[in-house]
Amino acid sequence: MSQTVTDQQLAIFGGPLAVPDSDQHDELFRWPIVTDEDEQAVLDVLRGRTMSDIDVATQFEAEYARYNGTRYALSYPNGTLALQVAMWAAGLRRGDELICPTMTYWASAAPALALGAAVAFADIDPVSICLDPGDIERHIGPRSKAIMVVHYCGHPADMDPILEIAQRYNLAVIEDVSHAHGALYKGRMVGSFGNVSATSMMTLKSLAIGEAGMLVTDDEEIYQRAIVFAHYRRHDQLTLSEVKPFAGVPLGAIKGRLNQTCAAMGRVQLKYYPERIVEIQRAMNYFWDLLEDVPGLRAHRPAPGSGSTMGGWYNPQAIYVPEELGGLAVEKFIDAVQAEGSVASRGINFPLHQHPTFTEADIYGDGQPTQQAQATRDVSRPAGSLPVSEGACQRALGIPWFKHYRPEIIEQYAAAYRKVVLQASKLEASDG
Ligand SMILES: *Cc1c(COP(=O)(O)O)cnc(C)c1O
Repeated sequence: MSQTVTDQQLAIFGGPLAVPDSDQHDELFRWPIVTDEDEQAVLDVLRGRTMSDIDVATQFEAEYARYNGTRYALSYPNGTLALQVAMWAAGLRRGDELICPTMTYWASAAPALALGAAVAFADIDPVSICLDPGDIERHIGPRSKAIMVVHYCGHPADMDPILEIAQRYNLAVIEDVSHAHGALYKGRMVGSFGNVSATSMMTLKSLAIGEAGMLVTDDEEIYQRAIVFAHYRRHDQLTLSEVKPFAGVPLGAIKGRLNQTCAAMGRVQLKYYPERIVEIQRAMNYFWDLLEDVPGLRAHRPAPGSGSTMGGWYNPQAIYVPEELGGLAVEKFIDAVQAEGSVASRGINFPLHQHPTFTEADIYGDGQPTQQAQATRDVSRPAGSLPVSEGACQRALGIPWFKHYRPEIIEQYAAAYRKVVLQASKLEASDG
């Protein structure tokens, strides 16, 4: 059947759609899954008027720490703040540098500027789209303090060589797990490798509870620093002499308390998250298994059997290989797949190193760009200096993010991709 579908004229040229009823597939893609149990938990907080208490948040933290396999978890109103606190707690100070992949959401990097530090942007690996362990050492300087590792679009970064380099140069490792809750690297959960990890749980992420962030660590000192920087209700927990004197007034001058309506939803979402991502994994792996043999597309997933997994498959990607499709531009490929009724999108971030916030903005009135003013050496990254990231938007495309295993429907979406791949030369030709 799939043979006939893929032989038919492309929908973009007026042929029949490979996915004829996509308007009926909302439930297949809808996320997060919200049930009566979520609603009841949120209502309980509202009716009890305990939005600004910390009892539910503390329970959620304990459950998240257990899930993540770490000693401590501390909640924040968003992932951006959790990352900023993680940076400070890991030791990033004025004049220090954070090594960070340029291909990520801005919150992995920009909070360093608010701490008086600078960002040394590094390149990504073309297969994982995560920080390239082979491109870290050239960015290390005398003030390098920490490496930010982003498990990008659900794919675990290659932690072994990264941890080895960090140890050799005495750098802290911070994991940004905002795309990869529940993903495994060689059998162990991401977020449990670094000195500290932080994650977003905003509504579009794979663990989605509104606006929320979480920091996790095994390190008692980091945990107490994280408390004193942006919390104040928990200052009775401060025991270390380094932080104890400051109880009562957060050092970051930031109030980082999570709204408990989100914490309540978080407890319910986390309870069902492991089983829900098992179904997502089954669905996404099925999609890719159907396309294993087609040229031009590679699954963005760790090798099956490696013990590494994609967690909830946040913002799933195909690695696009235009050379195998006669050089067809990714935009044209996407247009043709969309015309078939399938999801396809430009789904990755723009590289950060050339963004004006890092090249031009004088945020604190130094008379020069903040990023440079706060560095003790040249940290600029001219166009062309991080080539894999700069070319990545031509080599990645967003694929459907199935939340349920519905093989007959997933087969239609896979057929849409296969059909466009098999007839790619017609798209090229249509250009004249
Ligand atoms: C979403 C995201 C964040 C920021 O989280 P918020 O909760 O939106 O503040 C940080 N890092 C990455 C990689 C993200 O995708």
